[in-house]
Amino acid sequence: MTQHELRLRLARRGIPWTCLFELTYRCNLQCVHCYLGTNNPKEMNTDEVCGVLDTLKQVGCISLILSGGEIFARKDIVKILQYARASHFALRLFTNGTLIDRAMAEAIAQVKPWVVEISLYGFRDVHEQVTRVKGSFDDTVRAIEILRGRQIRVYVKSVVMKQNWAELPGLQQYVQRKLKVQWRSIDGGLQISPCDNGSKRPFLFRLSDRQLEKYMLAALTLNKTAKRNPEIRAAGENEHVCGAAFTACNITPSGELNPCLQIRAKDNSLKSKSFTEIWQEHPLFRQLRSLRRGDRQECLGCKDSVHCFLCPGMALIERGSLSARSPEACRLARGWKNAYRLLDKHLA
Ligand code: SF4
Ligand code: SF4
Repeated sequence: MTQHELRLRLARRGIPWTCLFELTYRCNLQCVHCYLGTNNPKEMNTDEVCGVLDTLKQVGCISLILSGGEIFARKDIVKILQYARASHFALRLFTNGTLIDRAMAEAIAQVKPWVVEISLYGFRDVHEQVTRVKGSFDDTVRAIEILRGRQIRVYVKSVVMKQNWAELPGLQQYVQRKLKVQWRSIDGGLQISPCDNGSKRPFLFRLSDRQLEKYMLAALTLNKTAKRNPEIRAAGENEHVCGAAFTACNITPSGELNPCLQIRAKDNSLKSKSFTEIWQEHPLFRQLRSLRRGDRQECLGCKDSVHCFLCPGMALIERGSLSARSPEACRLARGWKNAYRLLDKHLA
């Protein structure tokens, strides 16, 4: 059974395969595109976090992503990691890496995460223009080297922005050849979200159509990708649009349960309701679970849909409806279609 099939099998039994748990919104960097805004809610303490991990275990969640803010900004992070390890989650840690020294790398090695995913936005100048912290490039690169030295799997990823798109193919080669770890940002880093407080400031950093096409062509050429995302190509109209509230969920630092990072619910605190009550009964979760690709009337017959991620969260932000056509998704899909055409021409 593939991982995709396992996820679907669990989801059909009402079990979320994965949870992205935001442990804190505090961070030692100040990235220009960050969606967290200035909102800094009261964080759960160690016991409360471990209580949430117990709940996730009970409901059958297998894959746990610990994210921030910056997770290593929490003083109790090692205790949380050890508790998650003892609960047998497959652990993915999202971090900027800058707070990982040799002692922390040793603690991480002990809990055997599936992967540590580290953000790098460019070479030194560009990276530090984005993070707005001097020295952050060297600190992140050092962390990657220390982790790799401990045989911990590391993926490096980026967000594709006006500031960095032109140097990302070079950065990918540096990451793979010099740092000798995997690069994970071919298409996932293209979706730039607004801030949680509603500010659309991060949209300023989206690529123009022309830049998109150039970036996509360079990424496809470098990665020799002939066909991308077969799951999208194969998806029928009866399929769920995405994993939000189906295979996946999100928990905030203060203990609210959401369908996904892009879709924040209300009346969803795990302090006042059980996970199962919110997961099964909350109207937003139910609505998302019942949404099918074919329900997107504006998308029916779209010839670009094989290249489209159809993100309902983005549609909700842009158009106020989970089932609307998302102009940004259309733009990205069009970009991929054009990049593939150009690639085919180059290969002919
Ligand atoms: S497609 Fe959008 S709404 Fe769905 S899980 Fe991904 S980010 Fe969330
Ligand atoms: S969002 Fe746009 S590109 Fe995607 S399927 Fe709908 S119409 Fe097509």
